[in-house]
Amino acid sequence: MAAYSPPTADREEKLRLDFNENTVGCSPAVIAALRERLSADRLAVYPEYAMARTDLAAHFGVGVPEMLLTNGTDEAIQIVVNTFVDPGDEVLLLQPSYAMYRFYGEVAGARIRPVPYREGTLAFPLEELLAEIGDRTRAIFISNPNNPTGTAIEAAGIERILAAAPGAAVLLDEAYFEFFGMSVLPLIGRFPNLFVSRTFSKAHGMAGLRIGCLFSNTRNLEMVHKAQSPYSVNVLAALAARAAISDPAYVTSYVREVRAARELLYAGLEKLQIPFHRSEGNFVLIQAGRRSLELQDKLREVGILVRDRSHEIAGAVRVTVGTREQTSRFLMELERIWDGKGCPSTPGKAV
Ligand code: PMP
Repeated sequence: MAAYSPPTADREEKLRLDFNENTVGCSPAVIAALRERLSADRLAVYPEYAMARTDLAAHFGVGVPEMLLTNGTDEAIQIVVNTFVDPGDEVLLLQPSYAMYRFYGEVAGARIRPVPYREGTLAFPLEELLAEIGDRTRAIFISNPNNPTGTAIEAAGIERILAAAPGAAVLLDEAYFEFFGMSVLPLIGRFPNLFVSRTFSKAHGMAGLRIGCLFSNTRNLEMVHKAQSPYSVNVLAALAARAAISDPAYVTSYVREVRAARELLYAGLEKLQIPFHRSEGNFVLIQAGRRSLELQDKLREVGILVRDRSHEIAGAVRVTVGTREQTSRFLMELERIWDGKGCPSTPGKAV
C-alpha cells in the first residue's frame, strides 16, 4: 500500500489554508479549562471518561451507550474497519474523498471499490454507488459534506444506501457538519447499519488534541468498543471537549464568519474568472488548470499554504476558508500571482 504522508512540516507562522482546520483556534473556554486543570497529578493517572461521556452524549442528544469517544475521526474509521472488515471483504468508498478510508481498508486487507464523484459537477454518485453494493460489501465510507469536493448527499439518498446495504457498516463522516448543518445522527435508532462520526478537529479548532465521537446503536458500539484501545483519548483532550461544548456560541460565530468568507472567496474567484466548485464545507476547490502546482508554490513563497489536489481532479487546488480578513489576503496574493493571464480551462462562474 502507498504510505499516507501529509505535508505537515514547516507550517508555523504561515496562513494555513491547507488542512481545513479552524484558522483562528479554539474557544478561550478550552484554553482556560486546560490551564486550570493541568497538573502533574492529573497527568500521572490514566484517563477517566465518565464525565466527558455524560456531557458529550447530552450535548449530541444521544444515550451514553450510543456514543464512543475516539482519537479523532481516524480512530473511528479504524475501529469500524477492525470490527467488520476481514481480508478479502469489500469496502466501498467515494473518489476523491478522505484518504483514511482507503488507508484503514487496505491495512485490513479489504478489496477497495472506489466510486468516482460525477465528472464536472462533482455531485454525489448515488445511483453508481447503489449499483456497486453487493453481498461482500462490509463497509461504506461517506464524507458528508465531502473533502475535497465540498459536495454533499441529502438524507433521502443516505437512507437509500442504508436500506440497500443491510450487511455493511455505513459510516457517515460528518467532520464538516457545523459548516453544513444537516446530520443523520437522529437516524441511528432507525437504521441498524448506520454509524456517524463527528470531530473536534475542524470547526472547534482542536485538531492537535485528537478527539472525536462515533455514534451508532448500543449493540453495534458494544462490538466496536472491543476493537478499541481503552485509553486512546488522552485526558486533556477529554477535558477540552467538555469545555468546547460549554461554549457553543464560539463555534456558531466562527461558522458564520467562515460562511461570509466563503461568499467573499466566490466573488473574488469570479472576478478573476477562476472556476470553482461551491462548497458545503470550510474549503473550496478551485480549478487552476495547468497552474495548480505553480499556484501552490507561489502562494507558499508569500506565506500562504493551500493544497494542490490535481492528482485527484485535474487542475484542482483546495483552499481552506477562514475569516474574511484571511480570505482577502489570499485573494490579494492570488490576484497578483494570477497576473491577469486568465485560466487555461473554461473560465466563468461556479462549475
Ligand atoms: N474526515 C474528513 C472528511 C476529513 O477531511 C478529515 C481531515 N482532513 C478528517 C476526517 C480528520 O478528522 P480527525 O482530525 O477527527 O481525525
